[in-house]
Amino acid sequence: REKLIEVKNLKKYFKVGRKATLKAVDDVSFHIYKGETFGLVGESGCGKSTTGRTLIRLYDATEGEVIFDGENVHGKKSTKELKDLNRKMQMIFQDPYASLNPRMTVEDIIAEGIDIHNLAKSKKERRDRVFELLETVGLNKEHASRYPHEFSGGQRQRIGIARALAVDPDFIIADEPISALDVSIQAQVVNLMQKLQRERGLTYLFIAHDLSMVKHISDRVGVMYLGNMAEVASSDELYDNPLHPYTQALLSAIPVPDPNYERSRERIILEGDVPSPVNPPSGCRFRTRCPLATEVCANVVPRWTEAEEDHWVACHLYDDEYKHDFNK
Ligand code: SF4
Ligand code: MG
Repeated sequence: REKLIEVKNLKKYFKVGRKATLKAVDDVSFHIYKGETFGLVGESGCGKSTTGRTLIRLYDATEGEVIFDGENVHGKKSTKELKDLNRKMQMIFQDPYASLNPRMTVEDIIAEGIDIHNLAKSKKERRDRVFELLETVGLNKEHASRYPHEFSGGQRQRIGIARALAVDPDFIIADEPISALDVSIQAQVVNLMQKLQRERGLTYLFIAHDLSMVKHISDRVGVMYLGNMAEVASSDELYDNPLHPYTQALLSAIPVPDPNYERSRERIILEGDVPSPVNPPSGCRFRTRCPLATEVCANVVPRWTEAEEDHWVACHLYDDEYKHDFNK
């Protein structure tokens, strides 16, 4: 399979106050295949949105690389190259209302990218494209002259999707696109996104705060904890065979819907709170809450290891050098 995006040792730090540094994303590596949906999950503040934004250069990287279709996203670029990159990588936001300008008509909102990238030769062509996009997302041309406040949450998210599609992108980051919507509407938006993916060969990074939300949407899933990637695997593999103690704990909290399901999971309760990313624990960042933590976990940062084929994990339990330190 062909990789669309390769993230290599990506770091994004923010200065807070005079001396402190918030290590929002700290040495994260993973890849996304062309045409797949990659689900990125973790508690709020774990760095998933920052990872997404740094991927598409909304933020500069502090260190590390992002390779998009063979191109170094954070490399030196001409204005034209930057514009082209901006066109190929779009974003859909959690709160479509906050991300839609309330004083602009839906037509102008959707056409913003068309204007910036000169994708229409005339007013008529611009309008026709907007009408077509509205139909594509399940709205219609009568909606073009209206304003965002006249729409429901689900419809606003459709407008946000139309705006992203307007520039014909290859890659879309959806940052908790359904979290703010009613459950009954969530499935409709997800179905729409999946339909568009099939029709247009789109690649998605789908950010969510819980694993149950991304299970059916994602081909592969990454689990983040406190600025680090804990585990990445195909969706089925991650749910059937979670390796990282954090993933195991997250999965144990999801009720099993099928009563005949045999391997019911014992609920793992995590003690304590997530530490501050300004002053994260030494060694493994999860060690203050990990039921299996041992001495080496405090002293050595776990290596990012391919424990099984295309199943990656950062935990000493799966590292030949340290696995014997457990259960002594
Ligand atoms: Fe737990 Fe140690 Fe593995 Fe971290 S490295 S997840 S503390 S067992
Ligand atoms: Mg977020």
